[in-house]
Amino acid sequence: MKFNPADNIQDLQYFGEFGGVNPSISDSSTYTFISAKTMFDTFEGNADGCYLYSRHTTPSNLYLGEALAAMEGTETANVYASGMGAITSVLLQLAKAGDHIVSSRTIYGGTYAFLKNFTPQFNIDTTFVDITKLEIVEASITPNTKILYCESVSNPLLEVADIAGLAELAKKHNLKLVVDNTFSPLCIAPVKLGADVVIHSLTKFINGSSDTVGGVVCGTQEFIDDLRNVNDGAAMLLGSTMDSLRAASVLKNMRTLHIRMKQHSHNAAYIAKQFEKDGIKTVYPGLMSHPSHELFKTMYNDEYGFGGMLTVDVGSLENANALMEMMQGKNLGYLAVSLGFYKTLFSAPGTSTSSEIPEDEQSEMGLNDGLIRFSIGLDNDIERTYDIMRDCMIELNILQSELA
Ligand SMILES: *Cc1c(COP(=O)(O)O)cnc(C)c1O
Repeated sequence: MKFNPADNIQDLQYFGEFGGVNPSISDSSTYTFISAKTMFDTFEGNADGCYLYSRHTTPSNLYLGEALAAMEGTETANVYASGMGAITSVLLQLAKAGDHIVSSRTIYGGTYAFLKNFTPQFNIDTTFVDITKLEIVEASITPNTKILYCESVSNPLLEVADIAGLAELAKKHNLKLVVDNTFSPLCIAPVKLGADVVIHSLTKFINGSSDTVGGVVCGTQEFIDDLRNVNDGAAMLLGSTMDSLRAASVLKNMRTLHIRMKQHSHNAAYIAKQFEKDGIKTVYPGLMSHPSHELFKTMYNDEYGFGGMLTVDVGSLENANALMEMMQGKNLGYLAVSLGFYKTLFSAPGTSTSSEIPEDEQSEMGLNDGLIRFSIGLDNDIERTYDIMRDCMIELNILQSELA
């Protein structure tokens, strides 16, 4: 049977304490034990189903974690207070002093800053590569390399990683392939393609209401147990644990993720096609012109499309800023970072989310000043939205009107 992540989520069943259709929310930081021996065993990690202290885990966090593991097809998962909490704990769990990481160079700005500026202080070095070139990736692997790191669809340039190809390299060189799948939940299931660990910022599409930050690591039971180990687990010791109340609310939002992803993808595909037809330089994995369009089709779950993210290049920062302000003025969306909201969000990545990346490196990777990143919203009538966007572009002389 075909792996369908949304069906896997829907098949889960958790009732509340009194038969409620939603699981009860655990509202405790600590848990009592009837016997002192069980408390000791729980500390040692040998008492399944017993809760110790909420930084370790909570029933509510486990419900959300199980839903995310069902989505990614992993044994289990651990939820975090933020996406960066998830990313930093995985990297520090898998790489120690003297180790080396090979990472895609087009990754989330915070992850880039962590690997470029923070981990070298612990003698963990990273080589940043063009992840779409497997021979360059392989040539960068050294005897000390422990991790191959990428985003399935990269932020902000929407480069697509060949996850199966990278997984083969990881196996050959005994590395862990860690994939940040934030841009493509449901669309791509990296573990099914051979990845070892999948990370999401729940802040984006999965929660979908821009009301919290959150993160998750999906992986084997053994790896998640390692992260939560009271003696040397990075999740347990760095302490970026999600709160139970929030876990319950993210779980409720997650139940509509499949409907939302279909609409995000449908709307983004329409907007991308129109922009491209109008002669605007547009990057969207669903366009034939995208260099990895065919690769994406070998990896995706076609029901959910090519995702809700696209970029356009309007030539200059002045054009980008003027267009974004005008679109916000006409209530087409908000000039804001982040993604996955019901409203369209837009920002100029070079001066915002990717500003951690030095300017010369930005231009080398094609991160131009005139780039606008769009997270396309759930608009009911996307044709109406595009017509107004187009009017804005004509008014700003980014597009010439046919009549002129
Ligand atoms: C936002 C984002 C992150 C960081 O997540 P937070 O929840 O903001 O900590 C990591 N990776 C990607 C691809 C993101 O978009």
